[in-house]
Amino acid sequence: MASVKVAVRVRPFNQREKDMGAKLIVQMDGKKTRLLTVKNSKEQNEGGREKYKDFTFDHSYWSYDSDDKHYASQEQVFSDLGLDVIDSAFEGYNACVFAYGQTGSGKTFTMMGSSENQGLIPRICRQLFSRVAAGKESGASYRTEVSYLEIYNERVKDLLGGSGGAGSGGGSSHSLRVREHPQHGPYVQDLSKHLVSDYDDIQECMQRGNQQRTTASTAMNDVSSRSHAIFTVRFVQASYLRHNNMPSETASKVHLVDLAGSERADATGATGQRLVEGAHINKSLVTLGSVISALAECALPHDGRTPKSGKKVFIPYRDSVLTWLLKDSLGGNSKTIMIAAISPADCNYGETLSTLRYANRAK
Ligand code: ADP
Ligand code: MG
Repeated sequence: MASVKVAVRVRPFNQREKDMGAKLIVQMDGKKTRLLTVKNSKEQNEGGREKYKDFTFDHSYWSYDSDDKHYASQEQVFSDLGLDVIDSAFEGYNACVFAYGQTGSGKTFTMMGSSENQGLIPRICRQLFSRVAAGKESGASYRTEVSYLEIYNERVKDLLGGSGGAGSGGGSSHSLRVREHPQHGPYVQDLSKHLVSDYDDIQECMQRGNQQRTTASTAMNDVSSRSHAIFTVRFVQASYLRHNNMPSETASKVHLVDLAGSERADATGATGQRLVEGAHINKSLVTLGSVISALAECALPHDGRTPKSGKKVFIPYRDSVLTWLLKDSLGGNSKTIMIAAISPADCNYGETLSTLRYANRAK
């Protein structure tokens, strides 16, 4: 049965918001997140006279240590959400973790973090390998492979591809094709896969991919906030069942996704390239929202039939490259975790409201 968990995390004020004297419009209490309505905002003028909007998520994470009641450390987020993902992987199920939100809201901080304050991806990888080490002692064997890609304008680039070989165009080519294998499902043709045997190996891949992303991004006017990055860990475990000495193998996949900024792609002034990008970003994010909310609504088995009616429900996986690639890790027995990242400030009211609404659909 599909399982979707949704968390929201508010970041601390940034310097710009402090300098402009921004007001705090987010309150959290337990699982509840309350967004105070900002006067003169479009929503208020639309006739809504309420002073706030309330939402309930699986977790509502605060980021201020001055208010120790709700303070959520990277460790806390990992133990609430990351451990689940590792359990799923060891049980042979696929999992997906997404961070959604406007640019600057804390997606990368939550997924990747910094070297002193690691986020979900490095923590999940570290824990995975410490469990592998324990499993090896009891006779199991493991094979772990990673790949790291970026989707930009519905095209795919390998973030761990050869180091600037012919045709790599200074890291700006998004030219890999997505295809669908009749048995194994969607895949990226020619995407490199890297065998890793310990945390240092995987960390090296992570850093190399992040580096690729940042370098290319600077050259192309911050593409990273307008592209989706998927770090995938494929995990196979083999153990011998004692009674008949038959090998048993389980395979699973974990996708860790840093999504493009969700800011309105129809923002005024977008023309040409920006407009095309906006439409593509929107398509992926809208499709992802529809897929996840469909999955959350009716616990769908993998073939997309509802248990009750037996009627085929259409899930628009193929409407975007993002959802197509994640198809076998969304729904079915997969675990899906969405973290909505938001700003605390009144100046971001519109974006924050739209992020909370998006996350709310996924529940
Ligand atoms: P995004 O990836 O959504 O564009 P970032 O993760 O880069 O946003 O976050 C923007 C800035 O805010 C960064 O400097 C980051 O370190 C900081 N930040 C984000 N979330 C938190 C948090 N929960 N606690 C402390 N700092 C944060
Ligand atoms: Mg980011």
